[in-house]
Amino acid sequence: MIIIFTGKMSLNIPENLKKYCIVAEDGSIIDKFKCPVPGCTFTTRLGPGAVRMHVLIKADPLNESRYCPDHETYWRASESEFSVDTVRALARIPYRPVSYKKE
Ligand SMILES: [Zn+2]
Repeated sequence: MIIIFTGKMSLNIPENLKKYCIVAEDGSIIDKFKCPVPGCTFTTRLGPGAVRMHVLIKADPLNESRYCPDHETYWRASESEFSVDTVRALARIPYRPVSYKKE
């Protein structure tokens, strides 16, 4: 086996967390976090906690203006997985700061 060392940092994102992440083109950093619900296009640089908050708000039938049944279904299935611990694990992976602007 030949290992080619490129000198670049590569992210080691656990398989089960990849669905929350959009990795930058060079693979060195998370560009944005994204909502894992199929069909939802929500992305954010406000950190993984903002994704969890987004899913929670949209999963709440009492929040009529934002409620989305797909998010409720996802939340019910993934509540234990998408926990505060998961948010902490995601926050440990390097990600672009909110002030980042693409040139
Ligand atoms: Zn969403």
